[in-house]
Amino acid sequence: MRRIYLDHAATTPTHPEVVKAMVPYFTEAFGNPSSIYSCGQEAKGAVEEARTKVAELIGARSEEIVFTSGGTEADNLALKGVAYANECKGNHIITTSIEHHAVLEACKFLETSGFKITYLPLDKYGLLDPDDVKKAITARTILISVMHANNEVGTIEPLEEIGAIAREAGVCLHTDAVQTVGHIPVNVDKLRVDLLSISAHKLYGPKGVGALYVRKGTKLVPLVHGGEQEKRRRAGTENVPAIVGLGKSVELARQEMGREPERLAYLRDRLIEGLGKKIDHIHLNGHPTRRLPNNVNVSIDFVEGESMILNLDLEGICASTGSACTSSSLEPSHVLLALGLPPEQAHCSLRFTLGRENTEADLERVLDVLPGIVAKLRAMSPLWRTSR
Ligand SMILES: *Cc1c(COP(=O)(O)O)cnc(C)c1O
Repeated sequence: MRRIYLDHAATTPTHPEVVKAMVPYFTEAFGNPSSIYSCGQEAKGAVEEARTKVAELIGARSEEIVFTSGGTEADNLALKGVAYANECKGNHIITTSIEHHAVLEACKFLETSGFKITYLPLDKYGLLDPDDVKKAITARTILISVMHANNEVGTIEPLEEIGAIAREAGVCLHTDAVQTVGHIPVNVDKLRVDLLSISAHKLYGPKGVGALYVRKGTKLVPLVHGGEQEKRRRAGTENVPAIVGLGKSVELARQEMGREPERLAYLRDRLIEGLGKKIDHIHLNGHPTRRLPNNVNVSIDFVEGESMILNLDLEGICASTGSACTSSSLEPSHVLLALGLPPEQAHCSLRFTLGRENTEADLERVLDVLPGIVAKLRAMSPLWRTSR
């Protein structure tokens, strides 16, 4: 059976060109970038080349890019790094209730050391009102962190407006752009952000590497102390092969940027439309238009998300659900709850995130098998029967 992978928000397949670019840095070019002999300098050159590529993709300067171990570390460095660097100025941070756990848990940790966090609510589509940001700013506010696009429901936040508000108030703005960089155009000056998180494995690069953009002049305390790597912002010998892989994935993303978002948006809309026609009692989660070109998130009443995932898996289809049952908790998604979905609807969510290798035939297959799965599961549900 052919596998149909529709979970690109969780991770993407590493592009073969990326793997090819990485290999020499495990083998002949294994040098330490801090070594001054030629094999070290060769590795350093490769790291700097990757840095330039990442910077160019987002309209930054290469010295503003700090390589990290991924999106999670980039978020942690932004939140804690800015918080501790500005302790004398204030202790107030503004964020939203639909951020990735990397941001929310970093905030929770900061609360234990005296920082005050405002978690802004959103509308039913997951959209933040920039006016709410404005109203939340106080004289003690040192940082605003709002994700560029949400990984579960795909809603794209009005960062340009929020950026203008943050600028005017003289407050730092961080964005988790893990779901947008390499997928839709992202420019740090247009968005008016001071810090921006990137993860390689969400854009066809390797896992365990990412970057934080830090605007020149932004004060930041490092989380990892040691050597002088990354201009003292992140100590430790660079993961050269992974960084080279990130650089290559960014280069490939730039080549795809012209037509891929449009192609995916077309497939996305086909899938949304097809599901709506073939399955009743189904609702789209997230914003109808301001959403990532590859994101489809629906709630299908009276059918548990996990059951649908497992049944789809038997058909060779990889999808995802908002309720993280697989990962030990039975809690429904904090994002869907924040959008005001009742817990029973949040438990019925199903997310398809499309990617480069998907074609219309993949969607046809989903539309062929999912209605049968839903009918079967509903037939077993006492709630469904009593609702008839
Ligand atoms: C995947 C993801 C992260 C975490 O990135 P890792 O590289 O897996 O640590 C952070 N934020 C968002 C929005 C993500 O989708």
